[in-house]
Amino acid sequence: MRFSTLNKFGLQDIPFTCAQCSFCQVGNGACPTYKVKRRNSYSGKGKMVLTRSLMQGRLSKNDGLEGLRDAIFGCTLCGGCEEICQVDIPFVQIYQLMRAEFLKRGMWPEQLVPMRETLVKERNIQGQWNGDRVEGWSYWHPDEDELLEHVGRKAKTAFYVGCTSSFRGIPIQATIATTLIMEKTGEDYTLLGEEEWCCGAPLIMTGDFDTARQFAEHNIAAYQELGVEKIVTNCPGCYKMWAHEYHEFLEIDVPFEVQYGAQYLAELVDDNRLTGLSNPLDVSITFHDGCDAGRNCGIYEEPRKVLEYLPGVEFEELPHNKNRCYCCGSGGVLRPVDADFAIQINRLKVKDIEQTNADLVISACPSCVDFMYDQLPQASSNRISKDLAVIVAQALGLTWDGLEETYG
Ligand code: SF4
Ligand code: SF4
Repeated sequence: MRFSTLNKFGLQDIPFTCAQCSFCQVGNGACPTYKVKRRNSYSGKGKMVLTRSLMQGRLSKNDGLEGLRDAIFGCTLCGGCEEICQVDIPFVQIYQLMRAEFLKRGMWPEQLVPMRETLVKERNIQGQWNGDRVEGWSYWHPDEDELLEHVGRKAKTAFYVGCTSSFRGIPIQATIATTLIMEKTGEDYTLLGEEEWCCGAPLIMTGDFDTARQFAEHNIAAYQELGVEKIVTNCPGCYKMWAHEYHEFLEIDVPFEVQYGAQYLAELVDDNRLTGLSNPLDVSITFHDGCDAGRNCGIYEEPRKVLEYLPGVEFEELPHNKNRCYCCGSGGVLRPVDADFAIQINRLKVKDIEQTNADLVISACPSCVDFMYDQLPQASSNRISKDLAVIVAQALGLTWDGLEETYG
């Protein structure tokens, strides 16, 4: 059988290049899904072997396709297999194309259908009224009137908040922190508010490229109307879409500079604009490299540069860090597909964190911070996760009521 989505991208021969060395199953702290399931199909190698067996007709559609579908969607897109593969298989791209193939064949996991309906109806993944992207949390902001003036105003810099950081308590802390840092450093920025639509990541990650295109085109047009030249986003999933995947999967060339939040903060350090760090933190921390920022976009040094700059921080790397960092389990839209599986993956992450002496696990990803914040106590750990932007705001002496409500 043929996989037309792989053909379209010229990748139809890739499954045949796997050398079956098994590095992607056991090496380098690799595949979290294989570690949990212990089944070949849940590793990169297993998926390539299954795909080529189907292509060669050595496995019947009935015997192979459903198992391959479950493994392709039972993956966090963490990039661990791609990082270690000796023949450089572009796994993350292939998995997303294969997900598109299953959508075309009417074999999308049924759990994803309500997700897409919610996105199309509400323009955000949480299913809330889209005006709540700013209005939902502006009352927490120490200067609500000043904040609301940024919504819809013309400016060269845009803060693209993202769905995860607009509607949920823990990631909202990083959003408030970022607006306060921008105000303190004199950044003239704009927010789209109700006109900000999802970046389309949940759709692109699950292979629904056609629906995702409407979201990308809407946001680009909205920013063009405001004269935006640069977009800053704290979410590495959103960043990956804007910086790479609109081009890769939708053939859209984004007409703006795109900067990830940790890069933005590191640039403030480089430009001597992050001044007034008056509040020594007196805390021991470790850092979790979210998969989309780390392995999938290669951004490792910027968050560390920012952490090194903060007063009163004792830093310790995780046993598995940077390109070997364990996935937290929340990526690849695995949580709506199989929440228990994502939690099992998270338990491996917690074990890694527990091997450090750090009180705080910092990350620069709202999804990772949120999932770890939720799961660490459930795994009987007393460590707390926090976003990089929040700890920077605290070092600047910035605070707000919601922050204390959240972190006590
Ligand atoms: S992307 Fe991550 S979870 Fe998925 S197969 Fe590769 S290593 Fe495993
Ligand atoms: S690391 Fe690459 S070549 Fe080796 S088994 Fe995995 S997919 Fe195949």
